[in-house]
Amino acid sequence: MKRFFGVILLCIMVMICGGCGTRPGGLGWQGNITWQYTDTAMGTVIQQIIYADEDEAAQDFSHQVMRMLSELENQHISWRKETSELARLNATAGTGESFEVSPELSEILGRCLDVSEASGGAFDITIGSVVRLWNIDSWAAGEQEGSFVVPDATAIEAAVRNAGYHRIGNTGQTASSACMLPEGMQLDLGAVGKGIALGKIHELLKTQSKIQAAVISAGGSVLTYGRKPDGMTWKVGIVDPGNTSQNIAVLSLDGGWYVATSGDYERYVEVDGVRYHHIIDPTTGYPADSNIRSVTIISRDGLLSDALSTACFVLGVEEGMRLAKEYEVEALFVLNSGEVVMSEGMTEDFSGTIIIKSESK
Ligand code: AMP
Ligand code: MG
Repeated sequence: MKRFFGVILLCIMVMICGGCGTRPGGLGWQGNITWQYTDTAMGTVIQQIIYADEDEAAQDFSHQVMRMLSELENQHISWRKETSELARLNATAGTGESFEVSPELSEILGRCLDVSEASGGAFDITIGSVVRLWNIDSWAAGEQEGSFVVPDATAIEAAVRNAGYHRIGNTGQTASSACMLPEGMQLDLGAVGKGIALGKIHELLKTQSKIQAAVISAGGSVLTYGRKPDGMTWKVGIVDPGNTSQNIAVLSLDGGWYVATSGDYERYVEVDGVRYHHIIDPTTGYPADSNIRSVTIISRDGLLSDALSTACFVLGVEEGMRLAKEYEVEALFVLNSGEVVMSEGMTEDFSGTIIIKSESK
């Protein structure tokens, strides 16, 4: 599915200030070509808005991105594709076999284990069996209402017992390239997939001499790159969990930031008036109930933003802020009450837009 949009459609999460200045036919202003490309990969919508010297360079790049994401999913991180490394590793659980992990996956696992350790297990990629039990991957926002049956409490308890990040590799260090999973344990990289993808896209962008600026969205996660030709900053909207058709806040960012949000409105089912969402508290095996509706993390690292948004959702505002501070990232929480709580590094400017203080200097 390829589209060459004449007018930039503003995706819920990404608002390009002045972006409406792009004209039909894709020719942007100030001599730069704006190319917008929307497609799906890794079970999510990938939206690329690219400012380039040449139309062809932007098109080529957007196609390269899609090929790269397909490879990332099929060869490395999907639990569903039987051929992927992660699925093959999961298949060895309980067999006593040790699995030789590629340097790429090994680095991902090591970094995830680091966040598990720092978050006291609030973030834990070993909860794959719990995620499968809830059948989270089949959920969208509320679509399964009426047909969903809440898993049996004993089955949830058993799945929780099968998890535990401390039971693989050495936490806090790069996971060794040989990995052995105990019986019943399944790894799930759903919490970091979009961040990993954006990180890889960023690396590819840096090799493109004809692309000056871009904003890429994977699901709700966003990467900003370079400065727009008009010198304006990127505007990234944060969805209002109480009304997902509008924003609760707008961030103003330079290039090189990764914005990841974990929210209870992204994937959920409702049964008898109770909302079951997709972010699991690894200690209970049930959706985390930490008095917040969403957390947004802003950092210079894709995987980290994504992992910490999930971790902070489980931890709640106080512990989550502590974790964000430890990693020196910015965090914005939307509490159940609707109140917005931001980390110290962020502030509102005269127009009510949220800026990173260090960028305003
Ligand atoms: P995110 O939307 O980035 O917070 O990621 C949520 C996804 O990560 C879920 O759909 C699960 O696949 C997985 N997940 C849920 N809870 C956790 C958790 N506590 N730690 C790690 N992964 C999780
Ligand atoms: Mg995440």
